[in-house]
Amino acid sequence: MLSREDLIRSFPILEREINGKKLVYFDNGATTLTPVEVTDAIKGFYDYHNANVHRGAHLLSNEATDMYESSRKAVAKFINAKTSEVIFTRGTTESINLFAYSIGKSGWLKDKEVLITTIEHHSNFVPWQQLAYTFDFTVQYYNPENGIFNLDEFLRNVNENTKLISITGLSNVTGQVIPIEEIIKFAHEKEILVHVDGAQLVPHFGIDVKKLDVDFLSFSGHKILGPMGIGIFYGKKKLLKKLPPFHYGGEMINWVSIENTDFAELPEKFQAGTPNVGGAVGLKAAIDYINKIGIDNIIEHDKRLTEYANKRFKELDFVTVYGPEDKTSIITFNVDNIHPHDVAQILSDKFGIAVRSGHLCAQPLLKQLGTKSVCRASFYFYNTEEEVDRLIEGLKYIREWLR
Ligand code: PMP
Repeated sequence: MLSREDLIRSFPILEREINGKKLVYFDNGATTLTPVEVTDAIKGFYDYHNANVHRGAHLLSNEATDMYESSRKAVAKFINAKTSEVIFTRGTTESINLFAYSIGKSGWLKDKEVLITTIEHHSNFVPWQQLAYTFDFTVQYYNPENGIFNLDEFLRNVNENTKLISITGLSNVTGQVIPIEEIIKFAHEKEILVHVDGAQLVPHFGIDVKKLDVDFLSFSGHKILGPMGIGIFYGKKKLLKKLPPFHYGGEMINWVSIENTDFAELPEKFQAGTPNVGGAVGLKAAIDYINKIGIDNIIEHDKRLTEYANKRFKELDFVTVYGPEDKTSIITFNVDNIHPHDVAQILSDKFGIAVRSGHLCAQPLLKQLGTKSVCRASFYFYNTEEEVDRLIEGLKYIREWLR
């Protein structure tokens, strides 16, 4: 892992002070910090290579195209996919909308069922709920008790009509890791397709789509050190070929006539219009950075820090922590009788600590947890045990102060 000096060089924001207190950034579940290596790469693109891709014969356009496509290669290598299986989107939300619309339109789900859970982020919930009306399928919801996923219970919801499972790999609320490998094996025996929402999983564990044999995957660049506005949708080539496009327009066609349009091959078929080239360039730099740190080191660090935080939270008898004991990098909690927005505000103002508060885009899960709003501390590899200590200190202070 990096020394403090190297970390500060890459993440100067960590030296920021909030009301005289050094920033503690515990909102990584919402977005990770962006290293200088990433912002430099984006600036480099705009300063010296800015042009539209795949269009011009001029040098800058060729350079921009090379940079854009080399980002796709880096993503493909990172997740062990083919380059034609990597589709750039704006983020997980757009990836899932693309997928839900496209598979709905394909007819694969007609009069059949999609199985999801109530622990999903809204972006893996609302598209299915809403597009069910448009494309005549039903959504089956697994609603686990206390928001704790149980594999046997979940699989009992599979029936002869189930055609697709769409599930998160890691809950953005409870930090529970979902056994997607077992789900995929079970599903494939029954010819059910599986889509994984990897928005939280990929930053903390990476992913090998081949080894996992996952059919479809979505994740966001900004949660793995990249810029906002760029994300990935992955699908097995043979399946993507069968799906119709989501957006129509330039770049995604072979030819167009008044009579008809012939769509481009993968991945262009799913990428209409001018793409976010700067974002893709930044994403490549982010992946390079993660590769430099090493995903195994990230896994090890996150595990140790979460265990430490779990242990320290146990000291606080005035705090409710949600979800299972075994979690990764996310601790969601409430302080008894104090509104989470107040907790988050005081932590920020008095201690310089950034935690998220609210419904975490998971209202069905919060309902199951018996609350409308929570606080969430979420960690990444640059966070430390000392920072967790400051959070615990802050919570003790809030309890005393507002008692
Ligand atoms: N799924 C999960 C599990 C998430 O945590 C998030 C982001 N909080 C999303 C989907 C949506 O990601 P984005 O906002 O980048 O599209």
